[in-house]
Amino acid sequence: MREFEYRALPWNVIFGVGSLARLPEELDKLGFARALILSTPEQIEDAEKVARLLASRGAGVFTRAVMHVPVETVEEARKEVGRLHADCTVSIGGGSTTGLGKALKLEDDLPNIAIPTTYAGSEMTNLWGVSEGGRKATGRDVKVVPNLTLYDPELTLSLPARIAGPSGMNAMAHAVVNIGLKEPNPVVMMMAEQAIRSLSRSLPVVLREPKNIEARSETLYGVMFAGASLGTGLATLHHKLCHTIGGTFNTPHAETHAIILPHAVHYNASAIPAATQRIAEALGVDEAAGGLFDLTGAVGAPTSLKAIGMREADLELATEQLLENHFSNPAPLVRDGILALLLDAFHGRRPGRRLG
Ligand code: NAD
Repeated sequence: MREFEYRALPWNVIFGVGSLARLPEELDKLGFARALILSTPEQIEDAEKVARLLASRGAGVFTRAVMHVPVETVEEARKEVGRLHADCTVSIGGGSTTGLGKALKLEDDLPNIAIPTTYAGSEMTNLWGVSEGGRKATGRDVKVVPNLTLYDPELTLSLPARIAGPSGMNAMAHAVVNIGLKEPNPVVMMMAEQAIRSLSRSLPVVLREPKNIEARSETLYGVMFAGASLGTGLATLHHKLCHTIGGTFNTPHAETHAIILPHAVHYNASAIPAATQRIAEALGVDEAAGGLFDLTGAVGAPTSLKAIGMREADLELATEQLLENHFSNPAPLVRDGILALLLDAFHGRRPGRRLG
């Protein structure tokens, strides 16, 4: 007999090629009149394009969003909100810019509209993070879910391959971990399976043909469901490992996810064979961990921790730090097993059954 609990988040989504043009009318519908547009310095042109589109509904642009949402940046943006009398923010960019909009929403109740241009998937989650003095505080709060998320695949056409591959595998991780559980939530699992199907088919096409708008659209569709599955599901061994490694050794976020995912899936595979087989089926491969490793390589993302600057001597410390966390995991968390996982990830060894 079925037994489960599911609490949705207050998602409000518009998806479609060209949907950016709807922003002014959507702002009116939501009752906002003066938006501060947020972006990274690299996306100043995108921010200015949104400002032109919003015309009198735009209060100004703040283009100093950076990775990991430092408190100093939140404070600077807050001052701009006050100075310009903004009544909402519009975040155009990846997880870093979405994260800044979320921080202002969390702390100041400032409404936010997210316009994602990478595959981070943060706009569909209730997860927030703010860093101070090199340490990142994170949490879950329904308040940070954007008032509106506007997905326009055209805005991702400029996303270069070196960002698209790892970023897409970051989204893949949000979905995969929510199938690879002892008792997957049935609603989350439907979204996660769709995400894996869309991402595994479309991401390699995006890498081969960056201007293929259908593949861009399908990838973003997968990202939406991947973010939704993390938003209403769980972060497990995989996310804890990435958080530990990224936090202590300052490795790049999406790349760390891409490298660790196949190994985290392999670690749990024998404890949850049926769930792991579902991941493989959604991927369209015989075996999940090896299939994910191959996909990571196929989308040009790094496959070893060595390649992103970690040292073998760091693996012991990463293992100790992970084991300081207490969380449930399908396979028992044992020191030797985690160290072996990290060694495989360090050297970029293909997990799972050997080919041939
Ligand atoms: P990012 O937002 O830092 O973007 C990387 C770079 O790509 C930036 O310079 C950005 O301006 C540029 N860029 C973005 N879109 C572009 C486009 N279409 N064309 C050209 N350049 C573009 O990186 P990210 O991987 O999107 O996000 C990583 C951050 O998001 C991390 O801090 C991570 O912790 C956070 N994150 C949070 C969640 C969550 O649920 N809260 C989920 C995933 C990631």
